[in-house]
Amino acid sequence: MQYDVVIVGAGPAGLSAACKLKQLDENLSVCVLEKGSEVGAHILSGAVLEPRALEELFPNWQELEAPVLTPVSEDHILLLHSDNKATKVPGFFAPKTMHNKGNYIISLGNLCRWLAEQAENLGVEIFPGFAAAEILFKDNEVYGVATGDMGRNSAGEEKDSFEPGMELHARYTLFAEGCRGHLGKQLIEHYHLDNGKDPQHYGLGIKELWKVPDAQHKPGLVVHSAGWPLSESKSTGGGFLYHLEDNQVAIGLITDLSYSNPFVSPFDEFQRYKHHPEIKRYLENGERIAYGARAIVKGGLQSQPKMHFPGGLLIGDDAGTLNFAKIKGTHTAMKSGMVAAETITAELKKEQAEAELTAFSQNYRNSWAWKELHLQRNFGPAQHKFGNLLGSAYAFIDINIFNGCLPWTLNDPSPDHTGMLSKEQAQKINYPKPDNTLSFDKLSSVFLSNTNHEEDQPCHLKLADAAIPIQQNYLKFDEPAQRYCPAGVYEIIESEGQEPKFQINAQNCVHCKTCDIKDPAQNITWVTPEGSGGPNYPNM
Ligand SMILES: Cc1cc2nc3c(=O)[nH]c(=O)nc-3n(C[C@H](O)[C@H](O)[C@H](O)COP(=O)(O)OP(=O)(O)OC[C@H]3O[C@@H](n4cnc5c(N)ncnc54)[C@H](O)[C@@H]3O)c2cc1C
Ligand code: SF4
Repeated sequence: MQYDVVIVGAGPAGLSAACKLKQLDENLSVCVLEKGSEVGAHILSGAVLEPRALEELFPNWQELEAPVLTPVSEDHILLLHSDNKATKVPGFFAPKTMHNKGNYIISLGNLCRWLAEQAENLGVEIFPGFAAAEILFKDNEVYGVATGDMGRNSAGEEKDSFEPGMELHARYTLFAEGCRGHLGKQLIEHYHLDNGKDPQHYGLGIKELWKVPDAQHKPGLVVHSAGWPLSESKSTGGGFLYHLEDNQVAIGLITDLSYSNPFVSPFDEFQRYKHHPEIKRYLENGERIAYGARAIVKGGLQSQPKMHFPGGLLIGDDAGTLNFAKIKGTHTAMKSGMVAAETITAELKKEQAEAELTAFSQNYRNSWAWKELHLQRNFGPAQHKFGNLLGSAYAFIDINIFNGCLPWTLNDPSPDHTGMLSKEQAQKINYPKPDNTLSFDKLSSVFLSNTNHEEDQPCHLKLADAAIPIQQNYLKFDEPAQRYCPAGVYEIIESEGQEPKFQINAQNCVHCKTCDIKDPAQNITWVTPEGSGGPNYPNM
């Protein structure tokens, strides 16, 4: 199938690019591939939306009934000192990037569903349930992607239901797969797009959606927290709690994936986080209605690869456009997609369009998205270098007093998978058992993510060396995959008199990408399973 532009991923970046392309030139043929069973099924975010990009893309978004309904009404920052002590940080001392006046609390999944509707009204073809599995190269230029085969068994053989993947050819291919895109990772490696850049950095966000009683619900309330429980293991990250419409509360904990104690379990940290009195008071007598997890990209400008290569662009979180000083990436992802669309339409108007969209770099640099990332570039590295507390103090001076204009740039040169302590060096952590009221176990949680994969298909979690999980990771780190995976995919089976066995329950995978990032030996590669497989988030 031949298109002018093929877009991989129906997130905010991909859909904004698609809409903008058709707004600028209705004659362009544009298609979007989405691996989830429907648009929004794999989207997980906080989410507080800064509406700037939405306003530019659809100035009449209110008239078009965008699901952006709950303006932020109150903004709290808590420093959690222990499991029962907390201090509220006065708004004046918070980095101004953490202020949310003018923003909205939304479900990003629902916003993407709405963006997809707008895109289809403009004539974009959207194919949900189709994962782009392979990049098509010719003479070192990308000319499209191929979707994965459907109907192969676990040994890779064709079943009766076999349908081969299809090739989609395009003049330009935009990769908008979100954080740690599987094809984006290949492109970065193939074209050395990260030469001279810091390694990318990540957190793992685990989120639940609760329905709470009227008396505890404050529509528009935003609460962010730092400190406990991650501080106990000297890990960093932070919690969020957003009150959106219909008595819903979105609650989550982001664990920075640079943590060094192999016994840390981000899932269990999140479960105990909900027991802090300052958090619990919003959830008590409520009902948990959804669960999910997704890695978040946080390296900022210093880690952003070159975004253009012959035949296409990396946009949104596939390239790391998130602004971690705001813990927001939706508006910048959307803007990067819109700049991509403007660059493509301008290029196609030329008599001889170039395959490599080199103009994108300057166009992106001229945009407000790049400028805000530049002004707030030191936030992430300062947090890593000095810890949450001192890092925030540094951010206050850098961002509030000097408005991001200090003439230096901090770096964070250690990749997140390095620096893990051995099991002998690290302190073991005994997490409390779930009470099944506020806290739960992994399996009942994964159940709420509606995750589903065809069981008899090739495993989509590839080990470069099948011996490493036991012979290296288990012996040295007690195989941290057992704990960092928020869906219980990786297990060590120990039976008496037998060698321990590494088991992969691939059908539970919620596509968060943490294993691809955090494995100390970089032995695990996440590849796309059959299209439609994975979580089915209602409105995360
Ligand atoms: C826990 C958490 C909290 C966050 N909170 C906020 C917040 O409050 N405010 C904010 O602005 N931002 C927040 N973010 C960040 C925000 O969600 C992202 O920056 C934003 O979603 C990035 O958009 P994107 O389009 O680049 O990628 P994504 O939203 O990740 O979308 C990528 C899409 O591509 C699809 N896809 C991936 N690979 C393929 C493939 N090979 N083939 C086909 N389809 C594919 C995916 O299924 C997905 O639908 C948060 C993120 C997390 C994880
Ligand atoms: S297997 Fe990997 S990508 Fe899947 S849920 Fe576990 S850590 Fe995330």
